[in-house]
Amino acid sequence: MIYDLVIIGGGPAASAAAVYAARKKLKSVIIAEAFGGQSTVSPDIQNWIGTVSISGEKLASDLRAHVQAYAEGTLDIVEGSRAKTVDKTGNHSVITLENGVHYESKTVLIATGSERRKLTVPGAAEFEHKGLTYCASCDGPLFSDMDVAVIGGGNAGFETAAQLLAYCKSVTLFDKGEHFKADPITMEKVLADPKMHALPNTELLAVKGEGMVTTLSYRDKTTNEEHELPVGGIFVEIGQVPSTDIVANLVERNQWNHIKIDPRTQQTTARGIWAAGDCTDVLYHQNNIAVGDAVRAVEDIYLSLFK
Ligand SMILES: Cc1cc2nc3c(=O)[nH]c(=O)nc-3n(C[C@H](O)[C@H](O)[C@H](O)COP(=O)(O)OP(=O)(O)OC[C@H]3O[C@@H](n4cnc5c(N)ncnc54)[C@H](O)[C@@H]3O)c2cc1C
Repeated sequence: MIYDLVIIGGGPAASAAAVYAARKKLKSVIIAEAFGGQSTVSPDIQNWIGTVSISGEKLASDLRAHVQAYAEGTLDIVEGSRAKTVDKTGNHSVITLENGVHYESKTVLIATGSERRKLTVPGAAEFEHKGLTYCASCDGPLFSDMDVAVIGGGNAGFETAAQLLAYCKSVTLFDKGEHFKADPITMEKVLADPKMHALPNTELLAVKGEGMVTTLSYRDKTTNEEHELPVGGIFVEIGQVPSTDIVANLVERNQWNHIKIDPRTQQTTARGIWAAGDCTDVLYHQNNIAVGDAVRAVEDIYLSLFK
């Protein structure tokens, strides 16, 4: 069987696309590793339009429920599997999952979003989930009354520090740059806390521990001196990387590996492949933007199938 549309992803973009595709009666399948996307970990989202305040978990279950409402029609839902490759065969695409199952389709929408950028210094991988974490809202309270470090001096780093200051003994924030990049108002508030220490212009050297993290070693780039800081937890907030490797050989990407799209239509540089949301090279990445972009993509896919 050949689908009209395969949607890859499970965040706001893919969920919106699935609902729109089903309502247009496109024979479609959504391949979602999980529903919800990046902000699932957020305790409180206050800009999901039409809802004053919603937890990330509730947003994820709402997205899933909205897609599931169309499960009896022309939409197939494959949850818990990851698409591994996308290949072109003539006018169609073949999408193969990690479990080997494959789907043939006239069109594809890539809505794979992005993932946390990982810390790569020695010890970082070894101590992940053993004191080193990428999610303050999930794990922060486990570090009550401890000395902790935050890596990254952008908004995410400072917001994480603000959250941790409520219950940790001290928070030391590291950034490789000479100047922090967070909003001035957030920085001022966080830096005014006596439990807060900030170390710009530092290079991380290693994460150390015994079973759990105990120490972060770093170099002060101003003095070139190396130091060790005893910490019970390390919270990493050094940005996102788009999840676009599955189409690396098919579509053009920018220098950060975001998929290049035509912003009028969401079409990529490969015929029959569209992309929407955080995996694309649009300048702003937000839940509402991802949803709108995906809707635009499905409108354009629909036109392309029936013209
Ligand atoms: C901590 C945090 C808080 C945020 N808070 C807000 C906020 O308050 N308001 C706001 O507007 N935005 C917020 N954002 C940004 C917002 O979450 C993103 O802009 C939005 O999630 C992008 O949606 P997306 O669907 O493009 O991608 P994503 O949300 O990244 O979703 C991609 C999905 O695709 C799945 N996937 C990836 N690869 C594959 C594959 N190969 N096969 C199958 N499935 C795959 C992933 O599992 C994931 O579920 C926040 C982001 C973070 C990290």
